[in-house]
Amino acid sequence: MSLPTATKIQILPELIINKIAAGEVVERPASVVKELLENSIDAGADQIYVTVKNGGRDLIAVLDNGIGMNEEDARLSIERHATSKIKTEAELDCIQTMGFRGEALAAIASVSQFELITCNDENSGAIRLFVKGGHVEQINKTGFTKGTKISVNQLFFNTPARLKFLKSVNTEFQHIQQTFILQALARPHIQFRLTHNKQMILNLGRGQSLEERIYQLFGEAFLDDLIFTEHQEAYLKYHGFISSPPRTRTSRTWQYLFVNDRSVRCTAVNRGIYEAYQTLLLKNRHPVFFLKLYLAPTEIDVNVHPAKTEIRFRNSQLIQTLLKETLAKTIKDSTHRRFFGNRLGEVLPPANQQQMEIPLDEPFSLQPQTRPSTEPRKIQPAVSKSAVVQEKPFFSEPLKQKPVPGTKTALPPSEPEKAVSDLSPKKTSTDSSVPMQTTERLFNLSVLEIKKPQEYTPLGQLHQRYILAENQEGLVLIDQHAAHERILFEYYRNQFYEDKIKTRSFQVPELLELIPQNAILLEQYLVPFKKLGFSIEPFGGKTYAVHSIPVILPQSKQTQTLLAILDELALFGKRSRQEEIFSDALRIVSCNSALADGEKLSSQDLQTLVAQLEQVDLHLFCPHQRPVLVHLSLDELNSRFKRT
Ligand code: ADP
Ligand code: MG
Repeated sequence: MSLPTATKIQILPELIINKIAAGEVVERPASVVKELLENSIDAGADQIYVTVKNGGRDLIAVLDNGIGMNEEDARLSIERHATSKIKTEAELDCIQTMGFRGEALAAIASVSQFELITCNDENSGAIRLFVKGGHVEQINKTGFTKGTKISVNQLFFNTPARLKFLKSVNTEFQHIQQTFILQALARPHIQFRLTHNKQMILNLGRGQSLEERIYQLFGEAFLDDLIFTEHQEAYLKYHGFISSPPRTRTSRTWQYLFVNDRSVRCTAVNRGIYEAYQTLLLKNRHPVFFLKLYLAPTEIDVNVHPAKTEIRFRNSQLIQTLLKETLAKTIKDSTHRRFFGNRLGEVLPPANQQQMEIPLDEPFSLQPQTRPSTEPRKIQPAVSKSAVVQEKPFFSEPLKQKPVPGTKTALPPSEPEKAVSDLSPKKTSTDSSVPMQTTERLFNLSVLEIKKPQEYTPLGQLHQRYILAENQEGLVLIDQHAAHERILFEYYRNQFYEDKIKTRSFQVPELLELIPQNAILLEQYLVPFKKLGFSIEPFGGKTYAVHSIPVILPQSKQTQTLLAILDELALFGKRSRQEEIFSDALRIVSCNSALADGEKLSSQDLQTLVAQLEQVDLHLFCPHQRPVLVHLSLDELNSRFKRT
């Protein structure tokens, strides 16, 4: 082995250092958005407009009405380690601002075509700086109102390796949107506006409360599932919203933690929250939370991670215990009373700040903008009232879930179902205007020849939840939902892997209106959805036309099922394996399609269900791994009845 002969250590040139820093600070377009938003927040802005083109690849522009910079500061701001936020080492232990590392602008400017326009005093005019790949190319005076606008064009234009790693426009934009939402939740008093490719995605009013902001971003139904919590003591203050115990979720997507208004992750806090639910949190369920903690800046260390997304508490065990104990009380109380007043009728206090105009004739602002002063004072959802269109204009009758007693019990003849590839409009026998009958939900699985159970003889239904049946060994109790779910799952999964999903298509598509983050998700996954049997097309804005759904899924469950899948998909960043996404979706569709508790089954239904269950190899457990069957052997019964 030969050692390198001439090693000569060199201090790297500034430009290379900046590019290296960019590797840590600027991972993707969303990181630029984060840094620029933090700077605008630190500059005291209460109006911040973000404009994005092509997922941030082509443009990210952030405009604010903050304090701005004079010429000297503007020149310095793009230098590495140039910050106005800390001066001494001692101040590093007591950070009150979002930024402090003084490297974001330098890093961003080194990997983009960067324009800074800023003004801190309208009498002396504004300064404009143009920097390309870290080289200052132009500096000139210009006209601009007080505030700052930073435009980051062609991010990573000079780092092709980075550029190659960017994901699709939709994925990058989704990251941007998540970043934006985090900042918007951290500072509900600031007006935030986000446009993407000329389309206004979010416009969140100024002077809101956290509750109003959650309402605007996630809708009324979402907020209704949350309980308010607050706590005050010298060491720790907090307020926010957490899931009411019956309303926890299957995913961790909706967990937002802010410490001193900085969005962070912290395991100690998470543990405290989970522990507070104690036994009320079932396995594999996760609480939603929006929690804003406030501590003395000396109690936390934010200088842990270059992107400042993690923090350390001086005493994390204490935080965990405090949260656990105080939140446990909130959760307990919540079962007794509701915390919300009349949120929707509530009128905000009159704005005490003078409405400040910020320049709207930006070259990049292509959407007709509303003046902030004409904003309605009532809480308005940012986009749609809730995730789902309330009225369904195409169908006059809402669908009924429950079977009508005394209706036909014979199974429908096995209908000529269609493969997913054929989506021409056609009325199916499971037309939307007919309420779904139980027998139709136990539709004839064409794979099954046998309609009569071989092993088990159904005896009856117990509490409209369990099926009683006997076999040679004794008595079996079958969970009707779990059994049906298992049957449907196997059936659907087989079809899926053979690429032959049977669908029901609608003559008139059903419209689905989504909140923005769901719309972006759906747009991104239209092809996988199609593979799952959902043929969906954009219908303009955030509305989508659903043309067909898997045949196993009752139409009345269509919306809730799609939303549940989107909920899972929102985890996309945390796991990217297509396989997992598909198997989750298969499980969700099967679960939503299956008979619910409380559905009365005719004796024919019982026969069919039990016969179908016998055909399934893995019939002992449902796809959630809960048991489907419980056996009580004759021996066991005999011994219980002391008949030895
Ligand atoms: P940091 O935020 O860590 O100080 P940055 O590189 O992000 O470092 O910014 C450098 C400096 O530029 C900041 O300290 C601030 O003084 C100034 N600056 C950046 N963005 C703005 C803005 N939008 N308005 C006013 N000043 C800004
Ligand atoms: Mg900064």
